Amino acid sequence: MTTVGLGQKVHGGVKPSYARIMNYARFLTAVSAARKPSAIRMLTELQQRSPPTMISLAGGAPNPNTFPFLSASFGLKDGQTLNFDEALMKRALQYSASNGIPELLTWMKKLQKDLHNPPSPMDMCVTTGSQEGLCKLFEMLVNPGDNVLLDAPTYSGTLAALRPLGCNLINVSSDQHGMIPAALKDVLSRWDPSEVHKAGSTTPKILYTIPNGGNPTGASMTTQRKQEVYELARQYDMLIIEDDPYYFLQFDKPWAPSFLSMDVDGRILRTDSFSKILSSGLRIGFVTGPKPLVDRVVLHIQASTMHTSTFTQLMVSQLLHSWGQDGFLQHIEGVIEFYRKQRNAMISSADKWLKDVAEWHAPSAGMFLWIKLKGIADTQQLIMEKALEKEVLLVPGGVFMINSSDPCPYVRAAFSLSTPEQIDEAFRRLSSLIKEAK
Ligand code: PMP
Repeated sequence: MTTVGLGQKVHGGVKPSYARIMNYARFLTAVSAARKPSAIRMLTELQQRSPPTMISLAGGAPNPNTFPFLSASFGLKDGQTLNFDEALMKRALQYSASNGIPELLTWMKKLQKDLHNPPSPMDMCVTTGSQEGLCKLFEMLVNPGDNVLLDAPTYSGTLAALRPLGCNLINVSSDQHGMIPAALKDVLSRWDPSEVHKAGSTTPKILYTIPNGGNPTGASMTTQRKQEVYELARQYDMLIIEDDPYYFLQFDKPWAPSFLSMDVDGRILRTDSFSKILSSGLRIGFVTGPKPLVDRVVLHIQASTMHTSTFTQLMVSQLLHSWGQDGFLQHIEGVIEFYRKQRNAMISSADKWLKDVAEWHAPSAGMFLWIKLKGIADTQQLIMEKALEKEVLLVPGGVFMINSSDPCPYVRAAFSLSTPEQIDEAFRRLSSLIKEAK
């Protein structure tokens, strides 16, 4: 693994495909800037790339012959079997490179290129779910007192990761099509773009958004909006964190172009996840972005988890290689079909039971419906007390707000796990609950 030199201020200068020269060091927290590569980790990685004739007395890896597991075999629903013979099992049980196992990274880089074709050079690393990637990106970029832009309501896991960092979370208004560029422009007008690089500037350095099937709103951003937001990010020299775990759950074709696909400067940090399409328990996610920043994430991984489980990476990699890209995308079609039907079932039950008492927009991606209860100022008590009595569980909208104690008339309903019949009965119960509460 190559690591980033922080003196490398003119990263883009050597690559003609960058439209701008980015000074990545400007974005780093002191903690991230202080991270140094681990000599032992680098030796481990070197050893894995060495010829079999190499005699290594380096590194501290245990001998896998002492481990109790011999082999494994996973039956797939399509009738195939993934076999972990003794040799593969030994690899699966051993330490591995901090940025991810090479065959998974190679496969994913090709997929990323085929789907997004980023105009500026990108690198990738594997993370333990996209949550790990997000947490590490925030630690890398957010100092106490920094202004961070996001469109709330937003993913509660993001708020949980950001809040303890002591930054100011600034809300940019959004609607069913995601972040509103005019609202972003308005928020940014507090700062002078010509002063962004002056010492002591408080201009926000990062903007976080969920572009597809937002959690909790189900909102998906239009291409036009993304382009406008990207242009504002250029004007104010901000990085955009594109958290896109629902990318593969877009119900309509063509899939929306990502921020990554528009990134001429190298200012997009994208998190992807296999949680919604292959398995949430395997904990496989990815960070994609400019190499100097991905390298910083990898240095953090070196010092924390060391790497995402070799076993689960190999499991996924074996699967992807046996399927090929076409097989993978075919699998995704099946997943989309399931969620589309679930979404349709939820919308028809909402039409049946909630028309007079609530409002919503049908999502075009993801697994959530964001429902505004009419005449209810705050859903917290209704959901946490009364709904429990009626045996219907929803998430009160307040947990997704920057200030969770602000009154919020929304609830989040997931259409991922319940059957259409259960969804229908849940909305019948919710409808009578709202009527009783009014
Ligand atoms: N971002 C968003 C918007 C999410 O909804 C989730 C999961 N609920 C995550 C990130 C984290 O997903 P994972 O770590 O499983 O990839």
